[in-house]
Amino acid sequence: MITVDLRSDTVTKPTPGMLEAMWSAKVGDDVFGEDETINTLEAKAAAMFGMEAGIFCPSGTMTNQIAIKCFTQPLDELIADQTAHVYRYEGGGIAFNSGVSTRLLNGYRGILTADMIEPEINAENIHYPHTSLVVLENTVNKGGGSCYTLDQIAPIAELCQSRDLKLHLDGARIFNALAHTGDKAGDYGKYFDGVSVCLSKGLGAPVGSVLLADKATIKYARRIRKVLGGGMRQAGFLAAAAIYALDHHVERLKIDHSHAQVLAEELAKCDWVTNVMPAETNIVLFDTVQPADHILAKLEEKGIKANSTDKNRIRFVTHLDVHPEQVEYTVQVLKSL
Ligand SMILES: *Cc1c(COP(=O)(O)O)cnc(C)c1O
Repeated sequence: MITVDLRSDTVTKPTPGMLEAMWSAKVGDDVFGEDETINTLEAKAAAMFGMEAGIFCPSGTMTNQIAIKCFTQPLDELIADQTAHVYRYEGGGIAFNSGVSTRLLNGYRGILTADMIEPEINAENIHYPHTSLVVLENTVNKGGGSCYTLDQIAPIAELCQSRDLKLHLDGARIFNALAHTGDKAGDYGKYFDGVSVCLSKGLGAPVGSVLLADKATIKYARRIRKVLGGGMRQAGFLAAAAIYALDHHVERLKIDHSHAQVLAEELAKCDWVTNVMPAETNIVLFDTVQPADHILAKLEEKGIKANSTDKNRIRFVTHLDVHPEQVEYTVQVLKSL
């Protein structure tokens, strides 16, 4: 039986070329700064995004939480959309790690504007937490892979600069956003103080994320990574996979996007589906007449795995290990439900 795993773009396995690159990596003790493959990855990713420096971490949660710690003080407040991964899916880490409160806004599919943010910046008053950081997500996971363009980001960055706020990007799927918008990675550095990039999502590396920022921030980030237990030793084997992914798996993201399109178009024709969100990138969110769990059970019987994000909402995510014949098979199964 054909099996298809549409639960997440984190389920990919290293390709033969990637395994080859890992096998031949030159490694050292990264806590001593001696792993040359990690050093290469950090410099390469920073240069790609027009940033000064980078730090390789075990997860995107860690890069985001380190960034929040670097850009705030206890008793501060950050501003994010109510769907934000940093708020919803990082275990309450904003409060736990940084002692910071969160002001949640209601963006359209998770996309904020400067006009939404501006009135939520607290005035200087001892009653109020001090607003010091704005966090954007691109693409927005819970928005169904929706994207910011740099034209939308520029006024937010301008507002942050004029009000002395830091601006961090949770770019877990930033390369998906770039593939869709046509913006250049190198232009991101001038707008953001920090950028997190996941290597283990659409790019298909087995482990890891990088945080990119200026040199002083990354120097402090190394202290925070250590205190969180994220200082790794010969992790260059993982960095080698990440470098391979940056070199070989960025261009192909468009294929994942076209697969998502095909699935979204088919879903729109299904009478058991009430609504399909526009599939801008590699995520398709859709609402079902029956409870999502019933549909998921039927899909599972046919070898297709997916997740629900709400009682009547299902998420499909396409990735490196979803091939055209699996998309075709999924379409046939959707028609038959
Ligand atoms: C996956 C993801 C992260 C990081 O998740 P980890 O599993 O900790 O690597 C951060 N932000 C978004 C939007 C994500 O989808």
